[in-house]
Amino acid sequence: MARFHELVSGFHAFRSEYLSRDKAFFQELARGQSPKTLVVACCDSRTDPAIVLGCKPGELFVVRSIAAIVPDEANAGEHDAVVAALEYGVKHLKIHDIVVMGHSNCGGIFGLLHPETIANDRYINRWVSLAGPAVRRIDHENPQAQGELRCRLCEEGAVLLSIENLLSYAWIRSAVEAGSLCLHAAYYDLHRGMLALWNSGTEDYEELALPAAAAS
Ligand SMILES: [Zn+2]
Repeated sequence: MARFHELVSGFHAFRSEYLSRDKAFFQELARGQSPKTLVVACCDSRTDPAIVLGCKPGELFVVRSIAAIVPDEANAGEHDAVVAALEYGVKHLKIHDIVVMGHSNCGGIFGLLHPETIANDRYINRWVSLAGPAVRRIDHENPQAQGELRCRLCEEGAVLLSIENLLSYAWIRSAVEAGSLCLHAAYYDLHRGMLALWNSGTEDYEELALPAAAAS
């Protein structure tokens, strides 16, 4: 696993393998960015959206927060980094799509479901509690769900809550209504290496079909 000194040599490798091999691309990128997609992903070290989604520098505007939580307007802080990044992406970069990507084995959702594990962690506690309505909804709709199933349903439900919360901002809601911005809920299953997207028609997550050669 990479310690700090390995990151330094990693940058040297990046310079020699990427920057110097594709100078024209990076020179163009140095002039400005125009990503079309904004991703809200968890801070988890295993879920880097650019890697998971196969994107190059300049292609994704990335916002990361514990459990990919987006606060609604009523709960956004006075100095909210998540909402500031969303505002920049929507108003200034004029991105076309926002993807909220949750994942399996999410430590943030685990903390929300086991509050005793974060009882002394004021900021984690306050942050993950923003997803509390998702848990209450899951427990109401699926009272029989326990253990891993409940955890997964809450991970998936927290993503949907973040999508709802995005719509609490007038500048997001109006862009969606005008058809210039689309919102997508995604769930990355680490165990199976699969990505599922929310289908609002069937009201369920549907795994992306793999090309035949990659289906094993
Ligand atoms: Zn997570």
